[in-house]
Amino acid sequence: MKEQYNAIIRQYWDDVKTVKNFVGGEFVSGKGSKVVIHSAHDESELLSYPDADASIIDMADKAAQLARKAWWGLTAQARGQVMFRIGAKLRDNLEDLAIVEAYSSNKPIRDANVEVAKVAEMFEYYAGWTDKLHGDVIPVPTSHLNYVTYQPLGTVLQITPWNAPIFTCGWQLAPAIAAGNAVILKPSELTPVSSILVAALAEQAGLPKGLINVIAGYGHTAGQAAIQNADIRKVVFVGSPATGKKIAMTSAERGIPCVLELGGKSANIVFEDADLDLAVRGAQAAIFAGAGQSCVSGSRLLVQESIYNEFCTAVAQAAKHFIIGDPLSVETQVGPINNAKQYAHVTKMLDVAKAEGAKVVDNGLPSVPEGTGFYVNPTLLKGRNSMACAQEEIFGPVVVAIPFKDEDDAIAIANDSRFGLAGAVWTKDVGRAHRIADQVKAGTFWINSYKTINVASPFGGFGDSGYGRSSGIDALREYSEVKSVWVETARTPAMNFGYGANLG
Ligand code: NAD
Repeated sequence: MKEQYNAIIRQYWDDVKTVKNFVGGEFVSGKGSKVVIHSAHDESELLSYPDADASIIDMADKAAQLARKAWWGLTAQARGQVMFRIGAKLRDNLEDLAIVEAYSSNKPIRDANVEVAKVAEMFEYYAGWTDKLHGDVIPVPTSHLNYVTYQPLGTVLQITPWNAPIFTCGWQLAPAIAAGNAVILKPSELTPVSSILVAALAEQAGLPKGLINVIAGYGHTAGQAAIQNADIRKVVFVGSPATGKKIAMTSAERGIPCVLELGGKSANIVFEDADLDLAVRGAQAAIFAGAGQSCVSGSRLLVQESIYNEFCTAVAQAAKHFIIGDPLSVETQVGPINNAKQYAHVTKMLDVAKAEGAKVVDNGLPSVPEGTGFYVNPTLLKGRNSMACAQEEIFGPVVVAIPFKDEDDAIAIANDSRFGLAGAVWTKDVGRAHRIADQVKAGTFWINSYKTINVASPFGGFGDSGYGRSSGIDALREYSEVKSVWVETARTPAMNFGYGANLG
């Protein structure tokens, strides 16, 4: 796959061992300190590049200013047509993009294939919105015609994480440009390549040069410098709660708003009356898919006392059939942890859990490849909700199973968390299912299902999982300014200088 990756990258820039920024339609190098990307499978050095410096941010800003005028100068229908062509272009390049994502972002190739197709779907979905983002006419109690329009913000900054690089790139780019904005996107320094290629392919499909600029670099340098750029009107951040707070503080100093899509500790609640075979499969998919490196992972498994032991054993046993290994192998179902820092965090949290008295259920869980690589055995812990392993985001293939007595107890445990990103309930009692969905504090909730999301449906967090919404029409609103226009229609208008009704 390395040779295939090299051949794909050579279509864009010559030195395949490095990474370029994509700014104003050009591939340019930064001048900052060295960033290195390692293979999570064998820890070898894959790529390295210089961090984006201030001159790159400046170039991106100027390119974005020009491009957004050209983009907004098109009709809404024409913008939609370009976005449809981007969707088609991404589908034409699906295999290449999946190889790039798997190789440069340590993402299992199976998952990468699915995620690239989702990105094409996102552009197609928002292509259909460009000429439907119409305003309103408000029946005001005066002689005015009052209408409301949605206008682009200008240039927006997007900062995305390493766990779903191409997915989060498309997820934020598509609504931002559909609403008429230009974008500076800073992916994780560990996974920039697929986002750069998406931007380049979008231009090949007809997007004005510089409408999307992708900066390859660190968050504390390039990310912070970009927030400070006077032209940025909003920051949309996808990442950890700790970084989210820093982003919000820097943005607040500039007086600009943010959307924060942060982490979670989602409760997956299983009642004794559930279809237990389905619930076991759901519990596994909820945490072990992507090696648990998903914001919506079902990392707290709440199981009714009467079936607790039996259910924990079933989840552990069924998981032994996973094929764990090299992300570049088409056989692999569960890959390694993405990077050394995250691997150290997951293994430390496992040690903390054991020290707190959590018990590993080991009857059946598969073993990871030996030797090098950031592999962590999928792990089911029997524990309590007060333990650190149940309160802190581990972001690895580790689930804490917690027993509960009844409905009220399940809701209380589910809500005893600073997070509120997602959750699920498994039960055949339809009334109970809705009661739980209503009372669990979470932005996304599934009944007898887990992890299904779609670009058409709003997504975001409660509590420390963030604020603002992505996907669907909510994302278009996040990327728009609202303008209210008052047109006097009276033959002899009476002037009203207060906030009261027109006296005419
Ligand atoms: P992270 O917060 O370390 O990094 C995210 C991004 O922020 C990266 O691009 C990074 O370079 C940048 N960054 C880091 N420090 C910065 C700073 N001081 N200023 C500006 N930018 C900075 O997160 P991560 O480890 O890459 O990703 C994992 C986290 O992302 C998990 O908490 C996960 O739950 C969360 N996540 C949330 C969602 C969601 O939609 N809610 C989706 C995916 C991942």
